[in-house]
Amino acid sequence: MGSEILEEIKNTIVQRLPPRVQVAKVEFEGPEVVIYTKNPEIITENGELIRDLAKDIRKRIIIRSDRSVLMDPEKSIHKIHEIVPEEAKITNISFDEVTCEVIIEARKPGLVIGKYGTTSREIVRQIGWAPKILRTPPISSEIIQRVRRTLRHNSKERKNILQNLGNKIHREVEIENEWTRITSLGGFREVGRSCLFLQTPNSKILIDCGVNVAGSDDKSSYPFLNVPEFVLDNLDAVIISHAHLDHSGFLPYLYHYGYEGPVYCTTPTRDLMTLLQLDHIDVAHREDQPLPFNVKHVKKSVKHTLTLDYGEVTDIAPDIRLTLHNAGHIIGSAMVHMHIGDGQHNLVYTGDFKFERSRLLEPAVFKFPRIESLVMESTYGGHDDVQPTRNDAEKELVRTIYNTLERGGKILIPVFAVGRAQELMIVLDEYIRHGIIEEVPIYIDGMIWEATAIHTARPEYLSKDLRDQIFHIGRNPFISDVFQKVNGLEERKDIVEGDPAIILSTSGMLSGGNSVEYFKWLCEDKRNALVFVGYQAEGSLGRRLQKGWKEIPLKEDGKTKVFNVKMEIKTIEGFSGHSDRKQLMDYIRKVTPKPEKIMICHGDNYKTMDLASSIYRTFKIETKTPMNLETVRIQ
Ligand SMILES: [Zn+2]
Repeated sequence: MGSEILEEIKNTIVQRLPPRVQVAKVEFEGPEVVIYTKNPEIITENGELIRDLAKDIRKRIIIRSDRSVLMDPEKSIHKIHEIVPEEAKITNISFDEVTCEVIIEARKPGLVIGKYGTTSREIVRQIGWAPKILRTPPISSEIIQRVRRTLRHNSKERKNILQNLGNKIHREVEIENEWTRITSLGGFREVGRSCLFLQTPNSKILIDCGVNVAGSDDKSSYPFLNVPEFVLDNLDAVIISHAHLDHSGFLPYLYHYGYEGPVYCTTPTRDLMTLLQLDHIDVAHREDQPLPFNVKHVKKSVKHTLTLDYGEVTDIAPDIRLTLHNAGHIIGSAMVHMHIGDGQHNLVYTGDFKFERSRLLEPAVFKFPRIESLVMESTYGGHDDVQPTRNDAEKELVRTIYNTLERGGKILIPVFAVGRAQELMIVLDEYIRHGIIEEVPIYIDGMIWEATAIHTARPEYLSKDLRDQIFHIGRNPFISDVFQKVNGLEERKDIVEGDPAIILSTSGMLSGGNSVEYFKWLCEDKRNALVFVGYQAEGSLGRRLQKGWKEIPLKEDGKTKVFNVKMEIKTIEGFSGHSDRKQLMDYIRKVTPKPEKIMICHGDNYKTMDLASSIYRTFKIETKTPMNLETVRIQ
């Protein structure tokens, strides 16, 4: 499998490189081609040559040294410190004997790379080891350390995985691509457990694999993977659009049941979904409702994950090329573009997306090379789902905070750990810096801190404004002094008994977690305020408070106690990470080129239908609203 294609590629490479270059080995590493040579410096100094070669063979090419020319690690460390300027602040150097790479972790990775890559090229020239450069985040992240450790300690296994994958992607296929079908396995005419299955005569791809965390039983919580055409052994790839559990939460299950193939996503998605999946397992365990997989399977999924940057075109099957594009929803969130066959069909799956600039992210991408079919979300697709502008939402928030602080109260903001929390942190930091909000401590509780740390590891995924602040002005709002991490119960007690403050805590819907504990402590004092900035599901404590309930029975020390709510309850719309109705319609107006067919997903039944009919009436584009388990032929 794959060997004939590899042989052909190898011949082209040998012919095209200058005769002085000694090619020791050419291998597939997943979708990429790796050239091992005894004189890597000649190739790396001829960047153009490699670019042309990559274009010819239509593959990404990686150059590494043959083992025989590698410098001893001890000496190499010495050399690296000589070559790299001290301001780069290297925090760790380790060597991967399997791939002949040196992994350099630094506070300022840009300085290890150097202008146009000069410094990293110098490293290869002097020590042979190919540098792999990683950012050491300014807030240390336990998850990133765990992920990096897992990859480091399992390098040999990882290499096998990638080689097998390379052969599988490059297998010869003989059947013509006469059709493409998509089957909705979850998240259609509902929100939760997103899962879409794509089939061609030659390959099978799963896009998203989520859980419905509000589901009452297995049947309503997990995608329909028990359909006869879905066979794990035949699956070529899984693509995860973003880290939220309703898109990534069921992924470990696939590995539990024997899936050995790859997962494609961005790096922030890999790290954040690992955080959320581990937390999900933990919470389920504590509530004595274990999930059908465990920590081992999350680890296995990390070992099988291939991360892609936005815009990077990658072969994921003999007849499918994948490109991820910014979706503007949370950090690392992606729109999935698939080029099927020799240009027969192009499908875009939007995932969750925001078609407006936020403080955190740029708006979703709307220009594609080609697009015939579009699968889009409709969370706020109903005709009355119009949200206030960001600006108005921020003003409303500032006013509420100002008034509460004036009367000596504390502000509790329950938030989801990923996305809204960081958006709010930036807003609050800015208003405090400009003296519009009085400088009071902002306490960051629970998983939010770890999720924020992961944001600080990937500034290149943030909005242009934030990148400018971080890289050019040298000011990172996430590490501002106003934010204080909360460690444990004693500190929480001190906070509620202390001076006026703002508290950001999970869960976002007051459905468990520390936000409920804060609520119990703060709700009976009328000076305090509770501010909702995100969606409150039916049945949650958050929704009940929005409806005006004033007597809330909650468990305390094993007994049920009724809490009399006297604090101000406020809901501020406009901070959502989803496009509202206007933005969804605007997206169809702007998306280029115009799709021929639009399938609507990720919305309540009525919103899905409402959006579909409005799109059809306004733009005369064929729309479909498949139910779960329906198959649509798109080509
Ligand atoms: Zn989402």
